[in-house]
Amino acid sequence: MKVMVTGGAGYIGSHVVKALLGSGYEVLVLDNLDKGHREAVVGGDFIEGDLADKELLDDIFSGHDIEGVIHLAAHSLVGESMEDPGKYYDNNVSRGLNLLEAMINNEVEYMVFSSTAAVYGEPEEIPITEEHPLQPTSVYGESKLFYEKILKRYDQIHGLQYTSLRYFNAAGADPRGEIGEAHEPETHLIPIVLQTVLGKRDELYIFGDDYPTRDGTCIRDYIHVNDLARCHILALEALIEGMPSRIYNLGNGEGYSVREVIKTAEKVTGQKIDAKIGKRRPGDPAALVASAEKAKEELDWKPEYPDLESIIESAWNWHSSGGFS
Ligand code: UDP
Repeated sequence: MKVMVTGGAGYIGSHVVKALLGSGYEVLVLDNLDKGHREAVVGGDFIEGDLADKELLDDIFSGHDIEGVIHLAAHSLVGESMEDPGKYYDNNVSRGLNLLEAMINNEVEYMVFSSTAAVYGEPEEIPITEEHPLQPTSVYGESKLFYEKILKRYDQIHGLQYTSLRYFNAAGADPRGEIGEAHEPETHLIPIVLQTVLGKRDELYIFGDDYPTRDGTCIRDYIHVNDLARCHILALEALIEGMPSRIYNLGNGEGYSVREVIKTAEKVTGQKIDAKIGKRRPGDPAALVASAEKAKEELDWKPEYPDLESIIESAWNWHSSGGFS
């Protein structure tokens, strides 16, 4: 069975592709390589192209027997989305709509969509369930919420079956060290901490230590990228077996503060890590922790990396071996 993965050269996408190949699926990756890395795609067919190209999308669906699509291609930086909203609405909504139209025209019925905890905005209660109010504080979160709404209508009107996966903080790397997290510029906490240890960066800032949390720094729910990847396959298989469209949170259900992440990285790397206190980053909620009970129950999904230490260990293995050349 052939699965198309948009954004398959990106951080999460490349781990999804590797997991699909490991489970015996044929894979076709579509990625514009704007942020992705060609060498992160460890197998399958690769097409360099953009979702803006409607003709290409039609050619792909008419030329390949694609059973379902895992759609990860998107811009994903909260800060950037607040400076350049048009870029986010265009890429994450309009171009994503081209993909849905091409799927409908070519009778491809299943989509697993890469969504985000940013659809919830500032949490009213923790842990966050899928029923939590949807009040995104960023254009990024809103663009993902718009797409979820479009998916719901496409289900109602065209019979498209979808699963939307709302990720909390993806982290870690393939344990074999073949692929890992490599953003340019890097904005995420764990890679920044590890790059500081490796001397690739001079300074590490904690973005605010006056939050109403146990140590004043922000709390996040870190989930291993391979646990996320596996859940995409479970979601796709459930759709194909006839499960109706659903939305799931994906996290470990455990929150760690920025200071706790740094402390755990010190333990894993065996090095002392100095951090300065900086200003709060606009749009950062104090705490985001998932309730992922629904995915665990309905998809029979269980994270294999439930603790921060093993997540950071896998990331350290990747970063300390040099990452992509
Ligand atoms: N963070 C930080 N310093 C950094 C990068 C991130 O203190 O150099 C904090 C950030 O404010 C947030 C947490 O680390 O509370 C996780 O941020 P990240 O960008 O990794 O993920 P996000 O929560 O934005 O998806």
